[in-house]
Amino acid sequence: MHQKFSSVTIWLFLLPVLCSAQQTPAGAAAPVTAVRAGKFIDVQAGRVLANQIILVRGMKIEAVGANLGIPDGAKVIDLSKMTVLPGLVDCHTHLADLADAEPLNVLQRSAAETAYLAIPNASVTLLAGFTTVRDVGVYRAFNDVAMRDAIARGIIIGPRMYVAGAYITISQGAGAMTGLSPDIQLPLDLRYGEANSPWEVRQKIRELAHRGSDHIKVLSTGAVLTHGSNPKSIEFTPEELRAAVEEAGNFGMRVEAHAHAAEGIKNAIRAGVASVEHATLIDDEGIALAKQHGTYLDMDIYDEECIQSSPNTPADFLQHDRDLAEAQRRNFTKAVRAGVKMTFGTDAGVCPHGINARQFAFMVKYGMTPMQAIQSATVNAADLIGHSELFGSIAAGKSADIIAVAGDPLADIRELEHVRFVMKEGTVYKQGD
Ligand SMILES: [Zn+2]
Repeated sequence: MHQKFSSVTIWLFLLPVLCSAQQTPAGAAAPVTAVRAGKFIDVQAGRVLANQIILVRGMKIEAVGANLGIPDGAKVIDLSKMTVLPGLVDCHTHLADLADAEPLNVLQRSAAETAYLAIPNASVTLLAGFTTVRDVGVYRAFNDVAMRDAIARGIIIGPRMYVAGAYITISQGAGAMTGLSPDIQLPLDLRYGEANSPWEVRQKIRELAHRGSDHIKVLSTGAVLTHGSNPKSIEFTPEELRAAVEEAGNFGMRVEAHAHAAEGIKNAIRAGVASVEHATLIDDEGIALAKQHGTYLDMDIYDEECIQSSPNTPADFLQHDRDLAEAQRRNFTKAVRAGVKMTFGTDAGVCPHGINARQFAFMVKYGMTPMQAIQSATVNAADLIGHSELFGSIAAGKSADIIAVAGDPLADIRELEHVRFVMKEGTVYKQGD
């Protein structure tokens, strides 16, 4: 499932060099770029404005408005025939892993080989309009930290990444590399986050905090895409989950919990996690608890399409998934109707990277308005990640993360599957028809 580069994509990779507004001599003010937006989706207010001008200086948005003067010498980007919106955010990706239906194939690649093979995962995600991701776990511990830092340093291109560093999981649990003979001992990076008591959970989180994780991923129940796992089983106990939230909080980090089973979801919400991932079998009590605690649900309701259609999906994964997919979509509708806070998270890597936006149409089909779906991937996502000051809307002082589509995504949400313009931190990465 590795993406091949087309000649068009290679050209796009050169664009940042050609268009960068950041090649400024020390001491000189960064040049201004003016973006003319025909339609402008104000995600904070939930409305559409016409004929806005966005002034970008360096990496930041300087001003937004209808009657702004364009400074002399400013570069003008004309998106007056397009709809402009903030860069999208996917809150559940796995960019630094192989996008492979069989986790055991990780064992056929060195860590370095995996890291190189994952580079296109980052670039195709950015070019699809996702300027930020919350990456929620990697089999080779810290490949995600390395990828985040390589992007931030401009060595490779990709979204701004917030990374977990490793999965915090029980031994042989949902985040472990399972399916091996019991006499095989895995290297440390393939079992880094295994923990089996509140104090072991705390120890792992202390190590992850020191080694560059931005947030903590715990696995509260079994999983669909893990050998020998039962998505309906409880893994971490309430005591272990509370220890995770408290210890992560000591380092200023939030916790997201993978959970399918209803009790595992409620254990995680009661423990104080910031978000529940998948939330597949959430029941009415769980929905009420999520509302009460302000917990985000991050429900990946599209990827069933990829799991069931991939010729490489292992048979046990297919069986896990078949039981759960429809229930998850029904519960998504219930959660939306109940007014639970929701974010956009796809589990990218299950589906090929770069098609993240296909989930929007499913979110609308199962109960969101198009504006709610867009807000889940912008303002809500920034709030969950804890960086609303930096991204999630187009406003003065925020990072210049701006995308555009040709049509009106509020009339046809699938417009977001064809992003025509991508700017991240003031640099244009894609500008086409
Ligand atoms: Zn995942």
